[in-house]
Amino acid sequence: MLDLQALGFNSLQQPQPGVWIGKSAEMGLGEKIEVVSPIDGSAIASIQLATPAQVNQAVEAASQAFRHWRTVPAPQRGELVRRIAEQVRQHKIILAELITLEAGKIPQEALGEVQEWIDICDFAVGLSRQLYGLTIASERPDHRLMEQWLPLGPVGAITAFNFPVAVWAWNAMIGLVCGDPMVWKPSEKTPLCALACQHLVQRAIATLPDVPPEVCSVVIGKVDVGQTLASHPSLPLISATGSIPMGRAVATTVAQRLGRSLLELGGNNGMIVAPSANLELAIRAIAFAAVGTCGQRCTTLRRLIVHNSIADSLVERLQKVYRSLPIGDPNQDGVLVGPLIDSASGEKMQAALETARQQGGKIFGGDRITEGVPKGGVYVHPAIVEISPDAAIVQEETFAPILYVMRYETLEEAIAIHNNVPQGLSSAIFTENFREAEYFLSPAGSDCGIVNVNIGTSGAEIGGAFGGEKETGGGRESGSDSWKAYMRRVTNTINYGTALPLAQGIRFLDN
Ligand code: NAD
Repeated sequence: MLDLQALGFNSLQQPQPGVWIGKSAEMGLGEKIEVVSPIDGSAIASIQLATPAQVNQAVEAASQAFRHWRTVPAPQRGELVRRIAEQVRQHKIILAELITLEAGKIPQEALGEVQEWIDICDFAVGLSRQLYGLTIASERPDHRLMEQWLPLGPVGAITAFNFPVAVWAWNAMIGLVCGDPMVWKPSEKTPLCALACQHLVQRAIATLPDVPPEVCSVVIGKVDVGQTLASHPSLPLISATGSIPMGRAVATTVAQRLGRSLLELGGNNGMIVAPSANLELAIRAIAFAAVGTCGQRCTTLRRLIVHNSIADSLVERLQKVYRSLPIGDPNQDGVLVGPLIDSASGEKMQAALETARQQGGKIFGGDRITEGVPKGGVYVHPAIVEISPDAAIVQEETFAPILYVMRYETLEEAIAIHNNVPQGLSSAIFTENFREAEYFLSPAGSDCGIVNVNIGTSGAEIGGAFGGEKETGGGRESGSDSWKAYMRRVTNTINYGTALPLAQGIRFLDN
């Protein structure tokens, strides 16, 4: 049984607060919704959602907190993140259990998600001593030209259901060391994870004397809450993770006020399997990437582009693996594929398969499972669909385990098929031929933000920048120099001489 008290919940019988500004949790004044476990469709809690007026209060509190937080030296801000990591390490298992309950992930993946939070904390703590700018040669005598990176302001984070902890953590841990308070609107499908995260963060804040609790707030709600954040002039940055239509709506609102958006949107990730590929590795990588999290990762493998010479045998071997997949209650030992998030998701999967059938697809699997799984959950056999690359359905991200298999003859053809979709998140090639691998990584190769060789499309490490191109939105989060999106770059010119030379040799009022 979940030890919910350790995560700050007294009883799930009572409605949960939809607003948590700093350390003060309040009932939302909006609609009451039920939180449903995808494992068996049971109601596990109810939440009073935030209203736009309450969102404004959270943003106002974050703006107040910013005035102080921006002046705290970055390594001290890092100390907060270090203490958050201590809380997360202590509560790793219980938080993973909550992810399983609320998002339906198998324990291995739920633990991996919490580990991502720990990893990004470690990264952010180191980063807190490395927020460096350049010193640049000035063309003028006795002048210094340099850049500083300064805190940007409160950040609004809108996140998706499928990584109910990690996506916020990637943003928040980096944002905090950069000096930015965070106002988080989690998915209304996974609000308990957000409340648990807020509880752990506030516990860490309470151990330090100089941290305004309002550096982290949570507002739970639907589109109106997201749009209130997106339109708020006091949030210089909106980081939005979710579907492409959501990103388009959020980016449009943010653009109206000329704010910054950091977009992490849908993917339609492809893998090329070349004739020289190590098929043992490829099949394991395909299976993890295509059916892991029941096909509900932004980096899920959705398109397999296989050389004609190996396509028949690869499909046959994959079907064999798919036949043996343990599917069911994620809490049961050995299960590798849990439920879809809800029945709407199951219906979208069936509709996509029907469309694929009409467009000439040959379908293996994909049917709903009703025996041997908890009643009330939506469990499916992952599908393999052999289809032409010209079929319109392969252009779409259906957030469910459907793997489209297409065939190619030349590598150029494979790359053309691969790049011919509107999304550009993650991609991979399996080949033992280094010329093919390097070509795929080159400017003429994959057009995605993540391009892998001999590993699958999902399961990124936090050390690299994460994100994609085209309709995936162009944002980068997590490691590398993604932190720069959360800061304000300031260029300084300092004259330490006694004259006033102008740049470009311009002469003005000098005798
Ligand atoms: P979603 O777009 O339905 O919802 C995401 C968040 O946006 C939720 O908090 C939701 O309430 C909010 N929202 C929805 N419409 C909005 C609007 N018009 N204005 C403001 N806020 C709005 O996505 P989902 O179903 O929760 O998640 C699945 C999607 O997220 C998939 O497309 C997946 O690929 C994508 N995703 C992308 C990444 C990435 O890093 N690229 C990571 C995780 C998920």
